[in-house]
Amino acid sequence: MAGLFNFSGGPGALPPSVLRQLSAEILDLDGSGLSLLGVSHRSDWFREVVAEAEKILRDLVGIPQDYQILFLQGGASLQFSMIAMTLLRGTGKAADYLETGYWSAKSIPEAKREGAVRLAWSGREQGYRRLPEPAELQLSPDAAYLHYISNETVEGLQFQTLPGLPGVPRVCDMSSDFLSRPVRVTDYQAIYAHAQKNMGPAGVTLVVLHDDVVARSPEDVPSVLNYRKHVESHSIYNTPPVFAIYAVLLVLHWLQDEIGGLAAMDARNRRKAAALYAAIDAEPGFYRPHAAVADRSLMNAAFRLPSPALDALFVAEAERAGLQGLGGHRSIGGVRASLYNAVSFEAVTALCDFMGDFRARHG
Ligand code: PMP
Repeated sequence: MAGLFNFSGGPGALPPSVLRQLSAEILDLDGSGLSLLGVSHRSDWFREVVAEAEKILRDLVGIPQDYQILFLQGGASLQFSMIAMTLLRGTGKAADYLETGYWSAKSIPEAKREGAVRLAWSGREQGYRRLPEPAELQLSPDAAYLHYISNETVEGLQFQTLPGLPGVPRVCDMSSDFLSRPVRVTDYQAIYAHAQKNMGPAGVTLVVLHDDVVARSPEDVPSVLNYRKHVESHSIYNTPPVFAIYAVLLVLHWLQDEIGGLAAMDARNRRKAAALYAAIDAEPGFYRPHAAVADRSLMNAAFRLPSPALDALFVAEAERAGLQGLGGHRSIGGVRASLYNAVSFEAVTALCDFMGDFRARHG
């Protein structure tokens, strides 16, 4: 069975039970004789898939009725633009952005195409090794919105506090930690997250929007970039990624039925991260963590070994030991272990054992 020891930054591990079901249904969906890959997006079956996924998300996350749930294409990267097209363009205001790592740095030029952007904080000069203290943020009470990324996937930095000012809409890219822990949706006007970390395969991006955001959808953009059109057509405006959305539904069932919800998932993720960080910290100086301790992510741990040659050897030996996807992001190199929801404690234990053994041989 593939994927049991997959530490990739994304697309990442998926629950084995979900992979098994998908593989059977690619050949025959529910005894229908049709492949899952050949079912019409206009079928009743698919309309129900979307409706059921929405319903489970509302229950699991606690998404109130005055928020819309959309399954869109174009990845989280397209949301960098769609959000700014909807909430910034033509307002005459500026939006506040937090530049906390590789991905938030990518979001900023896209927003600048649509209007004025103010950097309320940047960690660029310090190499994105920590997140801001609340008192360091230079927030504007008249900002169009505040945009930030709850978990910087590359650097492994995760917010444990809620940045922002009362009265200023919060927009958050939760691509790499949505569904990994409870979240209070009403703190945000917009949340987006692509599926390929904790929710499913690549190809679909979940967007949760307050009705006020939908109401501001611009008419002078291509229709596929208009949130209202997607709301009106219940995420079936054009041909959506049927397979990816169905896989998300199966993952949502797994999260609800096998795991027992987001609080239970959070507890599992904390236990996994505690084990990994203990292995990193076991002998200071050998595994050198990228992120400041206070801002460590439960999802991604980035670290280096004493030399680039040892980084490479670590990743290669780990792969031979069945621990896959540990190479660091191309922007910072080193090693990154991603502990998304479907990474088991057993997998983390195997990684920690390997780390101890590797250090004993090379330390
Ligand atoms: N935001 C975050 C936090 C990410 O981790 C990534 C990619 N890993 C992106 C945005 C870009 O996502 P996509 O490739 O779906 O456009």
